[in-house]
Amino acid sequence: MTENYEIIDHVHDVIVVGAGGAGLRATLGMTAAGLDTACITKVFPTRSHTVAAQGGVGAALGNMQEDSWQWHMFDTVKGADWLGDQDAIEYMCREAVPAIYELEHFGVPFSRTEEGKIYQRPFGGHMSDFGEGAPVGRAAAAADRTGHAILHTLYQQCLKHNAEFYIEYFAIDLIMDDDGSCRGVMAWNLADGTIHRFLGHQTVMATGGYGRSYFSCTSAHTCTGDGNGMVLRAGLPMQDMEFVQFHPTGIYGSGCLITEGARGEGGYLTNSEGEAFMERYAPSAKDLASRDVVSRSMTVEIRENRGVGADNDHIYLHLEHLGAEVLHKQLPGITETAKIFSGVDATKEPIPVLPTVHYNMGGIPTNYHGEALRPTADDPEAICPGLMAIGEAACVSVHGANRLGTNSLLDIVVFGRAAAIRASETVDKNKTVKPADGNTGEAAIARLDKLRHAKGGQSTADVRLGMQRIMQNNAAVFRTSEVLKEGVSLIDDAAKNLSDLNVADQSLIWNSDLVETLELENLMACAKATMHGAEARHESRGAHAHEDYPDRDDENWMKHTLASVDDDWNVKLDYRPVHEYTLTDEVEYITPRARVY
Ligand SMILES: Cc1cc2nc3c(=O)[nH]c(=O)nc-3n(C[C@H](O)[C@H](O)[C@H](O)COP(=O)(O)OP(=O)(O)OC[C@H]3O[C@@H](n4cnc5c(N)ncnc54)[C@H](O)[C@@H]3O)c2cc1C
Repeated sequence: MTENYEIIDHVHDVIVVGAGGAGLRATLGMTAAGLDTACITKVFPTRSHTVAAQGGVGAALGNMQEDSWQWHMFDTVKGADWLGDQDAIEYMCREAVPAIYELEHFGVPFSRTEEGKIYQRPFGGHMSDFGEGAPVGRAAAAADRTGHAILHTLYQQCLKHNAEFYIEYFAIDLIMDDDGSCRGVMAWNLADGTIHRFLGHQTVMATGGYGRSYFSCTSAHTCTGDGNGMVLRAGLPMQDMEFVQFHPTGIYGSGCLITEGARGEGGYLTNSEGEAFMERYAPSAKDLASRDVVSRSMTVEIRENRGVGADNDHIYLHLEHLGAEVLHKQLPGITETAKIFSGVDATKEPIPVLPTVHYNMGGIPTNYHGEALRPTADDPEAICPGLMAIGEAACVSVHGANRLGTNSLLDIVVFGRAAAIRASETVDKNKTVKPADGNTGEAAIARLDKLRHAKGGQSTADVRLGMQRIMQNNAAVFRTSEVLKEGVSLIDDAAKNLSDLNVADQSLIWNSDLVETLELENLMACAKATMHGAEARHESRGAHAHEDYPDRDDENWMKHTLASVDDDWNVKLDYRPVHEYTLTDEVEYITPRARVY
């Protein structure tokens, strides 16, 4: 079969797959360190989902009030509901400060305070004084277009360092060696239909999240979990996939995001009685409680018939009291989004909102250097040589069971940078990359070829819609054993449809039918890992709210889920311990306690 496809070979020290914030920060650091780095991306770099990030990037700069990285660490551990690894969280919160100043020096146009310092707004779950004090302004923001500012700046810096980009190349599968290490990746050039084999000392997955496995989400159509799918097919597990974040304020109907920064600036939610109900659920943090808490409170209000609108099925977000001047200066993007997607003038009326899938806490397990893990019973920290993962595709795990707002833009810059530092220490430029033989990458081509000529009875779009509805209904904000069991059987059946797909277009040039089919396989692998992991976890923690097991159970469940998916789509679950230690003696391990806001 291989002979039908001409293969174009590339050898680099490092191959980064993905040009979002994580991929670009890594590419920049690696290139600057003198490594010959290739960055492969299926969309133009500045179209990656990072461009849509609005509210800000967290760091204890202390520009608005007193702040410390230890407080930031406490909030992150608590937000994560004690499923986060505290060594990695310490690393992220400490490195946040230099990483943000670095971004400033690269040229990110942050908003400014009167004194010219970086402007920082409050965000959910970010408090002072180890959770005891008032909300603190910690989200460094460029108006409400922070991701846009960061992504464009990083891309310009990469160009300055002459990084090599392969744009609109779709990575199909990893190339794995017989010894289990990773050698590179196979990719398809969407524009001219050629097939490319990339070999290197390290391959870095920076492919983003898989929000599109759900029907309603804030993520771009390109967020299809491709890296996660590739890593699962290479026989490595995903970690903590059952933890899916719902953002409280997706616009009702379209799912477009209204940043939490809107509540950071003083916005608040009301029910059909006009009550600012968050005061009842989170007396101290109120509308700035963490996302899982606010999303659940909204869902309870709607369930108890206090939703707004003709069908009592959503909630209002009020910003009109902030005044047109503040909205136009601090929140211009969402004022425009509200107008376009709900027809509402946010300076005059409330915006209709609903909790919407927003972020995947789970992903490829890594250590805090960005090295991907292949955990075994004897060694839960064992790495997979040659493979790294960063950004939303990875699970370090700094977000545990629930991510705090602003900590993802932080995650991508801190761990993109960490991966570059690690690669510059471990990659030996003088060592020759193991050359390809006739079979190298053949499995990826065989898979592409099979899907390209798939002549079954169902369209990719129909099977995808079926999967999205199952995820939306059966792995939602609140879960029960009954609903999850049904979800497992529905998603298992849905995956069987993948052997009955019909791909109508056989061309290799801009074949969106084939692209979406490859993406669907990746989404389905993520969906299966999510549903099976959720069904098995008999407790409530962070974003996983199980109504039959309403309490957190540290004795039995303070552990990371590892989900593998084999070639026949069977899911196998395993577990590995949470790191109950810090990186240095400068902070103490934060012991588990009740999580109240
Ligand atoms: C609307 C919205 C607003 C947000 N706001 C904030 C915020 O204010 N603060 C915050 O901290 N977080 C925010 N987040 C979360 C945060 O933006 C994301 O988690 C983060 O940007 C992900 O970055 P990434 O680099 O991991 O992935 P992405 O930015 O999603 O980039 C993925 C890259 O991988 C490439 N890729 C994927 N598959 C393939 C393939 N098969 N072949 C080749 N290339 C591939 C893509 O082309 C792309 O370049 C927001 C998210 C959304 C959706």
